[in-house]
Formats: sequence, C-alpha cells, structure tokens
Amino acid sequence: MDSAAADGPHSGPGPAANPLGHGPVLLLTDARLSDGRVVDVRISGDRIQAVGTAGGLGPLPALPGAPTSTTGARIDLKGYLLLPAPAEPHAHYDAAFSAALPTPPPETATDLTRRVTEAALTSLGYGATAQRTHVRIGDVHGLRRLEAVLTARQALRGLAELQAVAMPRLLTGLAGAEGRAQLREALKLGATAAGGCPELDPDPAGYVQVLLDAAREADCPVDLHTTAADPAQLARLAAALGPLRPRVVLGPCGALAPGGATVLAGSGVRVVCLPQNGCCTGLEGRSRGQRPGLLRELMEARVPLAAGGGALRDPANPVGRADPLEAAYLLAASGVLAPEAAYDAVSNQARAALGLPPVRVDAGFPAELLAVRGDSLPGALAGGHSRLVVHSGRVVSRTSAVREFADTVALALPRQSGGVDGG
Ligand SMILES: [Zn+2]
Repeated sequence: MDSAAADGPHSGPGPAANPLGHGPVLLLTDARLSDGRVVDVRISGDRIQAVGTAGGLGPLPALPGAPTSTTGARIDLKGYLLLPAPAEPHAHYDAAFSAALPTPPPETATDLTRRVTEAALTSLGYGATAQRTHVRIGDVHGLRRLEAVLTARQALRGLAELQAVAMPRLLTGLAGAEGRAQLREALKLGATAAGGCPELDPDPAGYVQVLLDAAREADCPVDLHTTAADPAQLARLAAALGPLRPRVVLGPCGALAPGGATVLAGSGVRVVCLPQNGCCTGLEGRSRGQRPGLLRELMEARVPLAAGGGALRDPANPVGRADPLEAAYLLAASGVLAPEAAYDAVSNQARAALGLPPVRVDAGFPAELLAVRGDSLPGALAGGHSRLVVHSGRVVSRTSAVREFADTVALALPRQSGGVDGG
C-alpha cells in the first residue's frame, strides 16, 4: 500500500504547541461516528476536548503572538468512520515473524528487540494503540526476552503503550525455584503483569498460588493462559484466584469445556479469545483451535469477552495478521456477535482487559482513536484498509490504500474507482 496515496486524510500542519499549554491541539473534521452523525472533534493534549456538528467548533484557538501555523493541526476525515482505538490484549511479540526463520530463531538482544518493535508497529498500523505481549522468562530464556520487550517499550513511548506479561514455565517444587526467583525479578524490572500457563506445571494449583503471591507483592494484575478443558479444574482455578479476580484475565480458553462459561460467570474474570485460530505460542503442545459454540456460551453467561490477535506469523499461526478489525470481522462473520459488539470486543473490552479506561468519541475521554475509511461499522469491518491512528492526542500512523483498473468498464457503477475500502 502506498502511504502517500491521494485518498488519505488531508491534513494541515503537524501538531504544535497547545495554546493552553497542555500539549498539541488537533482538530478532526467531518468524521462520521458509528451512530451516523458527522462531527468535528477537537483534541487537546491527550484528551478529547469537544465534539460538535461539522463546522460547529470554529477554528483552532489562536496562540497569542504565534503564527497561525503553530496553533495546531486540522485533519479532514470526510469519508472516514471515527472509532475508539482498538487494543491488542494478547500477543507474543517475542515470537513474532519467527515462522519463516530457522529453528531456533536468532535470539540476540538486537534480533529480539527488532522483532518485538516491528510486531508492535504492525499492530499499531492497524489501530491498536495499547498492546499486551506475553513473554517467556526462566529456563534458557532467562530475562533476555523480557529485556528486549522493555527496550522496545521504551522506544515506542509516544507511539503506543506496550505492556509485558512475564511467563515462567515452572513455579512449584525444586524445579520451580528458578522460575519463582525470575518472576519476582521480572516484576521488579518492569513487567506489567504476572502470567504463564498453570497446566504446564506439575502442580497447577500451586503454580497459581505462587503467582498470586508474587502479584500481590508487586501489586500487579494477573494474565493467565489456560486451555481449561476441565470445568472442575477451571472451578479450582477460579476459586484459587480469590479476591484478585477483577484483575485477572484468562486466555485464550479455546478448549474451555461446556459448563466452563458458567463457572466464570459473575466471577469478575475477563476472557480474551483469539478468533484468528483460537491458539497461541503460549500453549505449546496443548490442544489447538477453538471449540465451536464456546464464544456464544461465554456471551450468554455474560463473561466479559475481549478478542485479540494472538500469533503474528509465528509457528502457532504462520499467517497471523494482528489486525483487530480482522478479529472483529471473524466474530461478526461467524454470527456470534453483531458488528458493534464485535468491535467492542477488540476495543473497549480489550482496553478493560489491559486495565485501561474506556474510550468514547466524546468530550473528556482519552484521545485514543482510529479513523477508518468507510461510512458504517459493517463496511469498515468488511474492508477498511485506509486508516489513521491517534494515540495520546497525536496522529501516530497513517495507511492509505488505492486500487486502480487498467481499463474503464462501461457500466453505471455507483462508485467506479477509488479506494479498496468498504463503506
Ligand atoms: Zn498466548
């Protein structure tokens, strides 16, 4: 795709000093909202300051004593749908793009940091301004992979928010001593959450207990992998999580047995599913895919459900794309969710799984936004390729797609040429 193509949003000068002294001012004009309204949106600093009818917010405020070009940026979003930005709640960036690499892939600090950064930028280009990646620690990995993620997180500051979940393999008994020490070290180093797969430890309940103790000590959330194929085992897990449950995420739960959704109902635990293929590299050797009917059971039991990408061209899914709109498309195309609920699963539900506040295109909300070519949410999910991404009040990514045909077709088509995007 050509990032300089002509159908992209038209912008004025880049973000400049905010006259109020709180950061840049950005005016998004003629944007369509999912409810059909066409509005202008004024952003100040990292917040939406005002939303009004198109043309109704007036010009950008003048900065006293400054030339007009430094008062802020104006971006024409005519033909675009403006949405709360998606988030990626379950990624494995330390393994991203490794499907095409030799086994084992190169693991120098430079290799790892480059792959993690490239993966995060790929996801950001699709619109995910907040992302959570699970990272193996201990065994042969030590803290090397986590350190690469933390280096990438620092480099990406201002472009996207990257969270890291530390995943020790073993936590119990003598064999788990190293994992216990590495987990505490990882949380001190800056890992956002404690995680891993209890089912890979000989004592799953013991694993959860050690993890919870470390999470309480570090005052951090918990994000666990589970296949949860046994409802009794899941019930024990949910019980063991105790009062921490509102800060607990379980994923990808692809093999959750019938009855599992009932166990989780009302527990406060959030579930992240991976519609692309239902599995990820965090469950090596475990069952793959997603049990048919699972998502409907979770929805009917009112378990908070978010959706993510999971694998980005790694062995668990060599064609993984990390596009939140694709995850939403799959949820909607399968008939499990209406397009609006499907998009909510990859945006505000995903943000909630990351412990982040909700976003609405309304005054006072965080300026985390995705503009996507199209005039309706179904149209955007069907094929919104051209996108503009706003993080923390700043345009951080822009993608424009153009399709051309060699010859004119003699048919009266409503839209004969232009973008490849849906609408
Ligand atoms: Zn995973």
